[in-house]
Amino acid sequence: MLKFTPILLAILYALAMYRFSAWRTARELDSRSTELADARLRRLTDRMAAALNLDRIRVHIYEIDPVNGLAAPDGRIFITRGFYRKYQNGEVSAEELSSVIAHEMGHVALGHSQRRMIDFSGQNALRTAMIMLLNRVLPGIGAFVANAVMSLLAAKLSRSDEYEADAYAAALLTKAGIGVAPQKSLFLKLEDLTQSRSGAAPAWLLSHPKTSERIAALEALEARWTPVS
Ligand SMILES: [Zn+2]
Repeated sequence: MLKFTPILLAILYALAMYRFSAWRTARELDSRSTELADARLRRLTDRMAAALNLDRIRVHIYEIDPVNGLAAPDGRIFITRGFYRKYQNGEVSAEELSSVIAHEMGHVALGHSQRRMIDFSGQNALRTAMIMLLNRVLPGIGAFVANAVMSLLAAKLSRSDEYEADAYAAALLTKAGIGVAPQKSLFLKLEDLTQSRSGAAPAWLLSHPKTSERIAALEALEARWTPVS
């Protein structure tokens, strides 16, 4: 039992850190965000709300520059000021921005945003425990092996989350009469942006799988949804 005490302590420490970071994230978002108020976007989010039998969908602006959308663990949806600016100056259409909102709603509805925080803390605890065990068996390289295994696991988890959120968004956009086209055109726009600015990829693309594969997955869905006559 004594042998496992350090591992238990590591897990307790990771849990405490998780609570703290969730609290800090919520506070940071509270202090640097406002509710989005835009008539054109509101018409689109109202159509999505109606498709889901909701009164309305609240979207918040997070005051940072990187182009990103995010779903907080408490279920709130955020679009960054940088992304909103692209919409305001016409680089991104209202339909395209609503596809980002639909994607983030997918992360919330499918429980990813909560699971991710849990994953993060759970992963840290698991990593620490694994390093402790592996260092006994493989002195010197235990930490290296543990880190490699954990990164693979995390990448795999987040990749499948992204495809699921894309599929959720595609279904929602289709039901709301907005369609899948804006989702695809946004992917291509963001990728173009990456190329023209020599590798400065928008954060929203970086944290997601390859554009061509995402579009292919959407087209497979569309093909399945198109009625055969
Ligand atoms: Zn995502």
